[in-house]
Formats: sequence, C-alpha cells, structure tokens
Amino acid sequence: MIEKKDDRDTCIICDQLKKGGIHLYTSFICSECEKDIVQTDTNDPKYQFYVNQLKMVTKPEIYS
Ligand SMILES: [Zn+2]
Repeated sequence: MIEKKDDRDTCIICDQLKKGGIHLYTSFICSECEKDIVQTDTNDPKYQFYVNQLKMVTKPEIYS
C-alpha cells in the first residue's frame, strides 16, 4: 500500500503542489484555483482556459 507523506496534490489549473482543494475524478483543483474559477467572469479569457483544463478532467479517455 502506497502511503503519501503529505496530502498535497498537483493542481491541474496552476500545476503547483497544493494542500487543500477538491478532487474531480482523478484530478485535483486547489482551493485557490477553485475560488478563482468561481469568481472569474465567463467573458474573461481566463475562464476559457479554466474550462479547457476542466474538459481534460471530465473527458480523460476521449483520445485513448
Ligand atoms: Zn491551483
């Protein structure tokens, strides 16, 4: 059994090891990015980036 030394995960949005956040399927979004996504206006180009990142999470098997 593999036991992690800490509870940090790599966030799929900012690509940083962060502690605390939400797990979507096998991916992880840190609480800071989660807050960012919620606060970003849908017209903001940044929002499209978030959506694209999240698409990879929700459809990981599409090209396999
Ligand atoms: Zn993040």
